[in-house]
Amino acid sequence: MNLHEYQGKEILASYGVTIQRGKIATTPEEAVKAAKELTEETGTGWHVIKAQVHAGGRGKGGGVKLAKSLDDVKKISGEIIGMDLVTPQTSAEGKRVHQVLIAEDVYEPGEVEVEEFYMSVLLDRAQGKNMIMYSTEGGMDIETVAEETPHLIFTEVIDPAHGLQGFQARRIAFNLGLSGKAFKEMTKFVSKLYNAYVGSDSALFEINPVLKASDERIIAVDCKITLDENALFRHKDLEAMRDIREENPTEVEARAVGLNYVDLDGNVGCMVNGAGLAMATMDLIKQSGGEPANFLDVGGTADAKRVEEAFKIILKDKGVKAILVNIFGGIVRCDRVAQGIIDAKKSMGDAMNVPLIVRLQGTNAEIAKELIDNSGMDVQSAIEFQEAADKVQAVLA
Ligand code: GDP
Ligand code: MN
Repeated sequence: MNLHEYQGKEILASYGVTIQRGKIATTPEEAVKAAKELTEETGTGWHVIKAQVHAGGRGKGGGVKLAKSLDDVKKISGEIIGMDLVTPQTSAEGKRVHQVLIAEDVYEPGEVEVEEFYMSVLLDRAQGKNMIMYSTEGGMDIETVAEETPHLIFTEVIDPAHGLQGFQARRIAFNLGLSGKAFKEMTKFVSKLYNAYVGSDSALFEINPVLKASDERIIAVDCKITLDENALFRHKDLEAMRDIREENPTEVEARAVGLNYVDLDGNVGCMVNGAGLAMATMDLIKQSGGEPANFLDVGGTADAKRVEEAFKIILKDKGVKAILVNIFGGIVRCDRVAQGIIDAKKSMGDAMNVPLIVRLQGTNAEIAKELIDNSGMDVQSAIEFQEAADKVQAVLA
């Protein structure tokens, strides 16, 4: 689950990480009020107006702008709120901006020149350990740095039994070329950042840029956080940060009824039990000349109600030209699933408007096939994998 920048910064701040402070606004009037309050609280003269959408590269798309007066704050936030922000990470239609973060300007020049770094915390799956990845090249996207100057990317792997060690934090500060006050600040910054990552059960932290300000404070200017969905049950407060406006509406609906659904671009909807079989089924669809329109794991219970819910979710996608049901009856008997499919189709009537191919294998598969064939309904049955693939191919042709 992804968070907005301002939500991520709230988490960081609660762990004592220094952040670029800001306030959220949904109208230009709120933005001006927020800017005035920020000036009182932080002494900042200028403000940065930052679009809050789940996408990076906002600066490049015109979603991050500096305001040098309250008039600027009003004008710029008026332009950004409500716009469809297009960045290198969004679709061509962009993402609608519902709110902006009014932030203090932390780049004001002073005696020491400001510097931008890159820092992320993530799980290195190969080693089964968390890792801090960082670079002197902040502010630009890390993929470009990895391609053009890979030697400027450093990593620090963390032993889960010991956590981040002092010498590791110091090595990071050293590799970033820091000294004096900034060096000390960076070691504190890194260790608090790591605590925040572990404490929030996150899957990814990306802070780009981390700023060395002219007073040598180390500040998180941007913040991208992905929380681990599987740990949300123990973070109700973080789960409440979910912004469903940023998510695929059909996926949101599927989650509400407990279906494991991922929207894809193809033309064959599929309904499967078990993630492994779902992936095999998607391969099968590709082999038969189609493209999977979704990943859908209905889980253990495939009764009529659940099957109907799943069909409705699949049919929300207007690109679906056929549906393939591929269910293995292990604990759940195939004849019960077949009856569920028949009942669901009956109850849906004309709403089920694409060819339906059903492959049931496992306990009572033969009885299930008979049930479907004798139902008098327009459903094609199959027992073998290839048989199902051929039938999908035939209806797409
Ligand atoms: P992103 O483009 O979505 O990654 O958004 P960021 O939060 O990283 O902001 C984009 C860029 O805006 C940063 O790389 C900075 O160069 C600039 N920026 C952010 N905060 C400030 C600020 O306080 N003052 C100034 N002058 N520039 C800022
Ligand atoms: Mn950024």
